[in-house]
Amino acid sequence: MEELIRKYALQNAIQHQGKANTKAVLAHLIGYKPNLKTRIREILPKIEEIVQQINSLTLDEQKNILTSMAPELLTKTPKTSKQPTLPPLPKVGTKTVMRFEPSPSGPLHIGHAHTLIINDEYTKKYNGTLILRIGDTNPNNVDPDAYQMIKEDVEWLQVTTHKTLIQSNRIPIYYQHAEQLLKGGKAYICTCKTEEWRRLKLDGTPCPHRDQDPDQQLKRWEMMINGEYDEGEATLVIKTDLSHPNPAIRDWPAFRIIKTPHPIQGEKYCVYPLMNFSVAIDDHLNGITHVIRGKDHINNTLRQEYIFNYFNWPKPVYIHTSRIKIEGTILSTTKIKQGIRQGVYTGWDDPRLGTLRALRRRGIHPEAIRKYWVQVGVKPADIILSWENLYHINREIVEPKANRYFFVQNPVPITITIANKHPLEAHAPKHPDHPERGTRNLKLSPDKDGKIKVYISHNDHKSLKPNQTLRLKNLCNIRMVTMETAEYIGNNPEIVKKGAKIIHWVPPEPQNIATTILLPNGMRCEGLAEKIPIPEKREEVVQFERFGFVNITKLNGKIFGWYTHK
Ligand SMILES: [Zn+2]
Repeated sequence: MEELIRKYALQNAIQHQGKANTKAVLAHLIGYKPNLKTRIREILPKIEEIVQQINSLTLDEQKNILTSMAPELLTKTPKTSKQPTLPPLPKVGTKTVMRFEPSPSGPLHIGHAHTLIINDEYTKKYNGTLILRIGDTNPNNVDPDAYQMIKEDVEWLQVTTHKTLIQSNRIPIYYQHAEQLLKGGKAYICTCKTEEWRRLKLDGTPCPHRDQDPDQQLKRWEMMINGEYDEGEATLVIKTDLSHPNPAIRDWPAFRIIKTPHPIQGEKYCVYPLMNFSVAIDDHLNGITHVIRGKDHINNTLRQEYIFNYFNWPKPVYIHTSRIKIEGTILSTTKIKQGIRQGVYTGWDDPRLGTLRALRRRGIHPEAIRKYWVQVGVKPADIILSWENLYHINREIVEPKANRYFFVQNPVPITITIANKHPLEAHAPKHPDHPERGTRNLKLSPDKDGKIKVYISHNDHKSLKPNQTLRLKNLCNIRMVTMETAEYIGNNPEIVKKGAKIIHWVPPEPQNIATTILLPNGMRCEGLAEKIPIPEKREEVVQFERFGFVNITKLNGKIFGWYTHK
């Protein structure tokens, strides 16, 4: 029976990235032997014990054991998920031009990457043009560093942009179009109190300024751009339809007064276009053929269509995609900036944040982000970002590259007595699938009393009992004598089949290195790793066995790392 449980637990663990599930194993067992149903209470603790033991092994160890016990249970799982593709774009003509328009309030985050990558995939597919348009027409919301950070983030994602436009450099163009609309009676300058104007609009009633002559509108417009009004005292409003059934589509503001100096333009302007206006004008002037945006922009699309109609311009094809909910991370630039200022976050790449630079620091590959968002695609149904899926894709990319090392968290020393006083050696492959990368070779020489010291993790240590037998991975078997001491009992790996737990260890000084790992929840994890041969300051993703993937760097002889994922 125990053997049967062990087989199913191993099979279940291998199918689930090394982690077996007690209930799944129980279900499997009962499926095989239905008469066990009456004995669940009795067998469940046994299953729990075996599952726990098996989950403490690495995936490779589990595979090795199952291969020797029951190779027929090893089913081949496909190694990589297939390359996803996007559906064709509707109404593709001779030239496809698309755009990505971030607001430079901070660097890009994982949500921006969706729109950016989808646009990039389509422009590459149709040999089109992708314009990066920086929406910086609200000086209160511009971080001067963001221009450069956005550029770096776009490059890191391997997105090809063909042109970059900075909207605050195009203000005279927007003014020109505003004047045309004022002259044509399609817009007005309103100096009502905002609440009053809004109340009238809800009522479907024009405010006193709406139907005045263009001459009077242009006069107030001049005053507006000459700085004769204060903030909030005048607004350029686009006329739509005051009886539109959707109040959000009725007359909308297109320019407002902002007297904060602009990081690029300084005090050159005090009237700035709102997003709906600048976007519509630029979409036309840039010859945009397809616009991909979230469903939450449907009202904006309807508002912008008025501009296209007034100028008699052909409209781009609008594709509205799913709203994407992103949980479990921090995206708000206001919150992040405040946190950085107060020292809560280490910077824009703090591992708690959802910025691309935080994900990059953690060792998430841009290809994984691309693959994930293409898989999500442009479907209309709302979705929640699945970090697990993103990590799964990233794992497939980093696993073959990452060399493996031992790391123990909160190390506890164990002194092992070797009766014959001979040295112990460990030869572990850097990567079991890549023997050409060589092995890590560790030699532990006992002192004159035949004692050597190793470190194990606090977590492993607290689960031990005196007299328990263990296998120190790739090194030897030991029997615990007290909680701090053990005796060497040979090196036969078969001991694992008899139920001995395999645990990881780290050699004593000077063969180890102090290691600090920053976790995505902001906690720091301290421990020891075996010596890792990387040059100072270079970053490399490694796999700390039984701990997870970590993007590490060596600084002043110590290892500092950012946790990637399991
Ligand atoms: Zn008014």
